[in-house]
Amino acid sequence: MFDVKKIRNDFPILNRKVNGRPLVYLDNAATSQTPQQVINVIVDYYSNYNANIHRGVHALSQEATDKYEQARKKIQEHFNIGKSHEIVYTSGTTHAINLVANGFSSFLKQGDEILVSAMEHHSNIVPWQMLAERTGTILKVIPMSLDGELEMDAYEQLLSDKTKLVFCNHVSNALGTINPIQEIIDKAHEVGAAVLIDGAQAAPHIKSDLQALNVDFYTVSAHKMCGPTGVGMLYGKEEWLNTLPPYQGGGEMIAEVTFEKTTYADLPHKFEAGTPNICGGIAFGAALDYMNAIGFESMSEYEKELLDYATEKLLEIEGLKIYGTAKDKTSVISFNIDGIHPYDIGTILDKLGIAVRTGHHCAQPIMDFYKIPGTVRASFSFYNTKEEVDILVEGVQRAKSMLL
Ligand SMILES: *Cc1c(COP(=O)(O)O)cnc(C)c1O
Repeated sequence: MFDVKKIRNDFPILNRKVNGRPLVYLDNAATSQTPQQVINVIVDYYSNYNANIHRGVHALSQEATDKYEQARKKIQEHFNIGKSHEIVYTSGTTHAINLVANGFSSFLKQGDEILVSAMEHHSNIVPWQMLAERTGTILKVIPMSLDGELEMDAYEQLLSDKTKLVFCNHVSNALGTINPIQEIIDKAHEVGAAVLIDGAQAAPHIKSDLQALNVDFYTVSAHKMCGPTGVGMLYGKEEWLNTLPPYQGGGEMIAEVTFEKTTYADLPHKFEAGTPNICGGIAFGAALDYMNAIGFESMSEYEKELLDYATEKLLEIEGLKIYGTAKDKTSVISFNIDGIHPYDIGTILDKLGIAVRTGHHCAQPIMDFYKIPGTVRASFSFYNTKEEVDILVEGVQRAKSMLL
């Protein structure tokens, strides 16, 4: 049985008040909250075995190294990754995508094509634009429908032997759309293109089997799945990671350094220059343990209930329009009310203790597509409740009556 009351007890922050009201935290697509079990791991690290890893002969360093590498194994198991050295710790999805985009600059040439979906987060657009500028590569866009679904026929038309790389998010952070990534990956492979899937928004809801997907690269940010900020992972197939040049130079990533020549360390250390977020990596592992103990299936079933309930209730408000009505979506609702700026709704909701996001959600091209300045986005997690949905709906009604 999915016991949300019990789960909420794990999250100390959910007990606090904002503007004199109980916090209703509905900004989970921006960052998730942290359970006590993960906070304990962070406190334990700094209280008991804080040390730099991989280099020390001393006990603390060994302990920190072991825990950090155990966490890598947890990530491996969770995403069913073939080899643990195919996991590169990064500071998050943005870092992971930049690492790959930087590496691809050395293989791409003028006239090669790379494809991006119309519903990407800026961090899966801008690094590729920078790459295109450096290399003369042509960036093409896979269009989407008004429902917020990718147009797969158009995608197939865009693919050709010129296509070298396709990148797309698994789940859109602005719309909640779950993209048909297996089909995207398979079709790209038919023309010999590699695929990077930005999993930042999917990983909190969907347990993906990366070997089964046969994806070339997959990225995750721990802070969206009950872990701390500043840590995440890049999964890359071994062949790719061996081919890509290092992204940053420094300590940890070398085999041997002389002033004449440096040779690089083996995977994954080749891509892990400098002292990493050691505590963050260990806490990321703890966050995966926490979520797996609850179970992704029951979590996402529950979130679907919240999504359906909230969608139905919000649509009862006259003049309210939801952006992103894909058949397959996660618990994200982006909406506007006729004649009201999203920011004004967000401000009133905040006064009521309700945290939502307003604006373009780092996805300006989506807002341009719908010809709107932004949306109000309520994003639900497995620790939210129907009562909180009711508070949101009441709050939106109140904002509407104050603003119209
Ligand atoms: C949050 C998010 C990102 C960026 O993640 P960072 O943790 O800020 O690097 C990229 N893509 C999607 C779909 C996201 O939701």
